[in-house]
Amino acid sequence: MLQDKDRIFTNLYGMHDRTLAGAKTRGHWDGTAGIIKKGRDWIIEQMKASGLRGRGGAGFPTGLKWSFMPKESDGRPAYLVINADESEPGTCKDREIMRHDPHTLIEGALIASFAMNANTCYIYLRGEYIREREALQAAIDECYDAGLLGKNAAKSGWDFDLFLHHGAGAYICGEETALLESLEGKKGMPRMKPPFPAGAGLYGCPTTVNNVESIAVVPTILRRGPEWFAGFGRPNNSGTKLFGISGHVNNPCVVEEAMSISFEELIDKHCGGIRGGWDNLKAVIPGGSSVPCVRGENMRDAIMDFDYLRGELGSGLGTAAVIVMDKQTDIIKAIWRLAKFYKHESCGQCTPCREGTGWMMRVMERLMRGEAEVEEIDMLWDVTKQVEGHTICALGDAAAWPIQGLIRNFRDEIEDRIQVNKQGKASIAAE
Ligand code: SF4
Repeated sequence: MLQDKDRIFTNLYGMHDRTLAGAKTRGHWDGTAGIIKKGRDWIIEQMKASGLRGRGGAGFPTGLKWSFMPKESDGRPAYLVINADESEPGTCKDREIMRHDPHTLIEGALIASFAMNANTCYIYLRGEYIREREALQAAIDECYDAGLLGKNAAKSGWDFDLFLHHGAGAYICGEETALLESLEGKKGMPRMKPPFPAGAGLYGCPTTVNNVESIAVVPTILRRGPEWFAGFGRPNNSGTKLFGISGHVNNPCVVEEAMSISFEELIDKHCGGIRGGWDNLKAVIPGGSSVPCVRGENMRDAIMDFDYLRGELGSGLGTAAVIVMDKQTDIIKAIWRLAKFYKHESCGQCTPCREGTGWMMRVMERLMRGEAEVEEIDMLWDVTKQVEGHTICALGDAAAWPIQGLIRNFRDEIEDRIQVNKQGKASIAAE
């Protein structure tokens, strides 16, 4: 179990003072100018050595992503954009950082922006996060007053402005290029890639989009050293991580833990176990609603990191939003509800997603009631395969994968329901 001395987020539960004065007593903003004066290359090398992989879901190495930004400006400004849209069902970790520990995010934004030659950073905040906006804006104002932001930020010699932009509450704006469109004042619709944001992002300028947690861990990694961070978790899965556990556990929570912790330890130590005991565990969605579900018995020995969940279980760590479902759950209905969500959130720009999400949702609705033929299960599988990988952005995949997970793991339950429905109709007809 992660020890308190190794926690990056020391005020995750809001028990302490979240103002600048309180943050400083917990070690934030300590030697920031000194870190910046070590230079861009040093910062990027340290981040690469730490092994940090992006915390927004895809798990792309953060230091490597930063290194894609141009070293010298061609006259265009560069931007860091922090993705605080956090709209994936089940995911609720970044909001704890923003409302209770905002200074580690702001300090990280300054250091990361400097490393990418950006004098300006935008934080794009989910529309529903009102309290988070208030807390974050209050922290930004404090930093301007204290000279930590603005000209010669934190006496580092680097001029830096940080703006908060409040979205309007569309899930698709969490996709990085849709987010940039929205930030520019347009409809939040994903762009075709390439060009990638590092070449032409916000206002056509070099841009990096990073998740809140990815940026908020930066100052502590640089202060304590990449070896310290890389010392947690298995190789290629290093660091500490915020896990958000919801659903049928006795104590749902957000907790910082070492990567590669076992699922059993995570649930027993922090969540008080599964509701009704381990034998009552039916299924787990280990990384937010877009990753495939896993049967409960297969999760018993699971290691909570990127490589294990993908390689061994065909699922993913995603945002580490762990959704636990016990045996009282109607798993077909649960996945239908996710299908409905993705259908609602599709931006409608590409045909496989626009038509496919609605089609999949309607078939799921019939499967939920058992009003379908067994052959339709295979037909639904084929449609998910036609949507997956054939769309402009990853929402198509996100809509297809939960259904694939359901068919792969709970086909027997879908078939049973169809059978029961047929028998019910037959016995009514016989009466
Ligand atoms: Fe829009 Fe869906 Fe296409 Fe993404 S995959 S661009 S959400 S229609």
